[in-house]
Amino acid sequence: EDLSAEVVHSLNLRNYDIKQVLGKGISSTVRRVVEKTTGQEFAVKIIDISGEKGEVAQVEQTKKDTYREIRILRMCGGHPNISEFHCFIDDLLVFALHRCKKGELFDYLTSVVSLSEKRTRIFMRQLLEAVEFFHRKNIVHRDLKPENILLDDNLNIKVSDFGFATVVEPGEELVELCGTPGYLAPEVLAHSMYENVSGYGKEVDMWACGVIMYTLLCGAPPFWNRRQMMMLRAIMNADYTFNSPEWDDISDPPKNLIQKLLLVNPQQRLTAKEALAHPFFHSMDMKNVSEI
Ligand code: ADP
Ligand code: MG
Repeated sequence: EDLSAEVVHSLNLRNYDIKQVLGKGISSTVRRVVEKTTGQEFAVKIIDISGEKGEVAQVEQTKKDTYREIRILRMCGGHPNISEFHCFIDDLLVFALHRCKKGELFDYLTSVVSLSEKRTRIFMRQLLEAVEFFHRKNIVHRDLKPENILLDDNLNIKVSDFGFATVVEPGEELVELCGTPGYLAPEVLAHSMYENVSGYGKEVDMWACGVIMYTLLCGAPPFWNRRQMMMLRAIMNADYTFNSPEWDDISDPPKNLIQKLLLVNPQQRLTAKEALAHPFFHSMDMKNVSEI
């Protein structure tokens, strides 16, 4: 149960009406709440520590992780394509975000199966602008995927879930294995599998952007395999194709951009800024051309 008596009481005291569950992650439940005085809606993320009863060190770590998530959300404040922090109820591990009414990009994609090049261009531009913004602040997200990308009323992207995000100083290397299997960059896997392989950095988010873009355009992920070991091997070799019939009607610029994101060598991979300068974002839709 995500709602302890304490959470219910505290939210009520703060004049929030508690509504339905909006989504769940591994260690949290997100619920809709309505501020009684203003009628304004928020999404409250309730961090679950029930499985950690008595384990003081675990609980302390969860608290630290939540503080870090909030600190990073605050650092990202003001960007139109990043989830907006509202407040932290610090006696509980609960914080409120502005609600994204249209839910996850994942569900949107499922409902339409795959996106047009034009839609993909709009979403990818917004996603890359968000990534460019937090990379400039040395923040690495580490869990970009359609479940963590939300949509507001106007179908604008809000990058969300900074639960694995961290600040990486220039020259510093990250070493933890974290994220979601299908979106993990080859260098993250290489580091966890072999000794003497260096750590990783911001480039892992660009790899995830490549996986996302591929998935948006054809409706299926590039590296999926029923057997996880096979999938991880495919990732490490960037072994994917544009073969399936789904790709036949897709033009070259988006394929070229995906190729430049799904490069095994993180040094060769495009940065967010470079990706935004890619011809894919300059090409005009034929429909628009005929209207001119
Ligand atoms: P976790 O770190 O546990 O994965 P998330 O922050 O990703 O938690 O939130 C879990 C789910 O809750 C999201 O995938 C989404 O469906 C929903 N959710 C999170 N934030 C919002 C929001 N601001 N508006 C609407 N739904 C949200
Ligand atoms: Mg999540």
